[in-house]
Amino acid sequence: MSDEKIPLFFHEKYGEYSFGKFHPFDPKRFPDFIEEVKKEEKMLNEVEITEAPLAGDEVLSTVHRSEYLEEVEEMEKTGGSLTMDTPVKKGSPEAGRRIVGGSLQAAKAMENKDFAINFGGLHHSGPDYGEGFCLFNDVAVAARHLEDEGKKVVIFDTDAHQGNGTMDIFMKDPNVLFISTHQDPATLYPGRGYIQEVGKGEGEGFTVNIPMPRDANITEYHHAVEEIVKPLVRQYSPDVLIRNGGSDPHHADSLTDLALDMRGLKYLGKTSRSMAEENDAGYIDLMLSGYGRRVVEGWKSITIGTLDVQVPLPSDQKIGEIGYEPKNDLKETVIDLKDILKDYWEF
Ligand SMILES: [Zn+2]
Repeated sequence: MSDEKIPLFFHEKYGEYSFGKFHPFDPKRFPDFIEEVKKEEKMLNEVEITEAPLAGDEVLSTVHRSEYLEEVEEMEKTGGSLTMDTPVKKGSPEAGRRIVGGSLQAAKAMENKDFAINFGGLHHSGPDYGEGFCLFNDVAVAARHLEDEGKKVVIFDTDAHQGNGTMDIFMKDPNVLFISTHQDPATLYPGRGYIQEVGKGEGEGFTVNIPMPRDANITEYHHAVEEIVKPLVRQYSPDVLIRNGGSDPHHADSLTDLALDMRGLKYLGKTSRSMAEENDAGYIDLMLSGYGRRVVEGWKSITIGTLDVQVPLPSDQKIGEIGYEPKNDLKETVIDLKDILKDYWEF
């Protein structure tokens, strides 16, 4: 690792990315995580907390239609909602624009750095829609910027929910390889991300969905990464790998049914960063999701993995081990998925 510190983008306004008092998305996660990093010397030594800029319409327009941006603006004035669970509260679009600005800045940092972190992953917002607590898609804005610079990008979406917005934005695009591990869409929002969804037109083969069975733990994630994700990343040979996803694959998450423990979240961070390094690619890590009491601890576990620092993990029960036999549901999914993907990739 270079002597230079890793930029960790943040702005106080992130704390205003809110959907109301009783909503499961608690924006206190952002300042709370920054406090946690400040308490851990070994983590703090690695990062440089850097102010995220505000993304203007010209930035958001690289992935969203202008009619949609106008719709969000109007809803903020009238107090409307994009969907039942995604109201547009006063100040929230500005906070969202800061989050997008942070992810864009992380992408720009790839010009002279090989690693950047932001609080991002608003992956349920598509070209002309927002839903699932996501107003603007920062992951897509970062990837689009890199693409416009002539770079090949892998997005590895490890959120428990499938990244339908990101998938739609890059559906026909071969310059961005979108790979997602997520809870089986038959059992969780957004109900998309089946193995048959592989992209369209020129982008066919560049969308890859790996549904995970309920209760999937590190054993299953390791199997999916080794059998599918790593071979694809190696063959695609990206210039930059973006991982997005927070703590919601954790067993204690209140909205999902996956079963990673803190070691499992650390594994996701560590293996993603390693994949970038093994392929001489830059690495951007984005965390945002998580519901319930263990969000900040989950993010900490991921970050211990990405930074590869010797910091004790938050205490947790151990669920699953690498090397154990993965669940049959996943083994079958992997076999079926390889059968579909062999038209585009070698295994
Ligand atoms: Zn999620």
